[in-house]
Amino acid sequence: MPKQTINKCSFCGRPRTEVSLMIEGESAYICNYCVDQCRTLIDENSKNDVSDARANEKENFDYKPYDIKSFLDQYVIGQEQAKKSLSVAVYNHYKRLRQRIKSDDVDIEKSNIIMVGRTGTGKTLMAKTIARLLNVPFTIVDATVLTEAGYVGEDVESLLTRLLQSCDFDVKQAERGIVFIDEIDKIARKGDNPSITRDVSGEGVQQGLLKILEGSIVNVPPNGGRKHPDQKMVPVDTKNILFICGGAFDGIEKKIAQRLNTEVVGFNSIRENGQLNRDNLLQYITPADLKAFGLIPEIIGRLPLLTYLEPLDRVALRNILTEPKNAIVRQYKKLFQMDGVKLEFEPAVLDYIVDVAEEFKLGARGLRSICETIMLDIMYEMPSKGIKEFTVTLDLAKEKLEHADFLRHAMEG
Ligand code: ADP
Repeated sequence: MPKQTINKCSFCGRPRTEVSLMIEGESAYICNYCVDQCRTLIDENSKNDVSDARANEKENFDYKPYDIKSFLDQYVIGQEQAKKSLSVAVYNHYKRLRQRIKSDDVDIEKSNIIMVGRTGTGKTLMAKTIARLLNVPFTIVDATVLTEAGYVGEDVESLLTRLLQSCDFDVKQAERGIVFIDEIDKIARKGDNPSITRDVSGEGVQQGLLKILEGSIVNVPPNGGRKHPDQKMVPVDTKNILFICGGAFDGIEKKIAQRLNTEVVGFNSIRENGQLNRDNLLQYITPADLKAFGLIPEIIGRLPLLTYLEPLDRVALRNILTEPKNAIVRQYKKLFQMDGVKLEFEPAVLDYIVDVAEEFKLGARGLRSICETIMLDIMYEMPSKGIKEFTVTLDLAKEKLEHADFLRHAMEG
């Protein structure tokens, strides 16, 4: 039988005269419009596949608490207690995600985390490091920008906008992510008694936050900021999102001391064991102290894992300079190495940097700015000098800091 000439697309029926290209198959034709449409379908399909594959990857989450802590150890100095608590919490969280819900199963509840510790002791670093290990969407939000709906500032839902943005609006992925809420202490109620007037940055925000922490479907404004009526919302289920909160809770030691003094039994038992360490009362923190500080009990209930970070002493600061996998000193060495220069620091330089950070109460965060000040000129000049080795001496370090007036600025700051 002679081959039939087909004059229309076998898929959409468009005649050959209406299309720019007709591709001929065994016994069918397809036009350029249908090819385009197929391409879109294929793309969408593969996007879902990637998403599912990623989700499966997490299903196979195979880190034990010990592995998580070992990973944290590579980046975070000290903070043994917090690292352990966090490792167990994260392990349980992802174990819970794998749990197949059967009717007779025990439903494992989500264990959001709250970390209390002075600023610059590693709270954010710890949350960031965990997210890096798990390779899940992660975002950091400052609780101070959040306000009650109707007030100037960002609606509480906007913290999920950031999470969505961090993973290109892949909702499935975001729903298994981690949100770090910094400065959670700043939304505490001022004073112990609920205020009668509206408290813009306090209880209202806590109520808003509660809904999100609890695990519910939240309508998220894709562009963040304030909601407005004609914006299309993205529904996000927060059931499996892990929330890690951090705060300095300045002055909470006083609340802890008060409680220890009144709780005769508790206080005595600690005292009898000779363990009461007045220099670090944070280690005795309980949810009751968070309540006394002004967090509402419902929020505290949704943050069942409470842990604390130690203040960083000299030894810790010194270690932070050199030990973490991405320690500042290692970074400088690497940068110089890329220019073919072997960089060394006299040990006394590192002690001096710690001295300055301690003296001006700059903490771990200050270490970097001190180093940057010392290294600026050196980094500026070195690539053009054509030398192979360079050692930063104590005299040079002192001269650079003094020359930059760093110490005077630090004192004023
Ligand atoms: P926080 O969230 O507690 O205010 P960060 O985690 O942001 O403090 O710490 C600020 C910086 O100080 C970090 O990026 C890190 O370089 C350094 N740092 C703080 N604490 C530690 C620590 N325990 N181990 C290593 N580096 C630390």
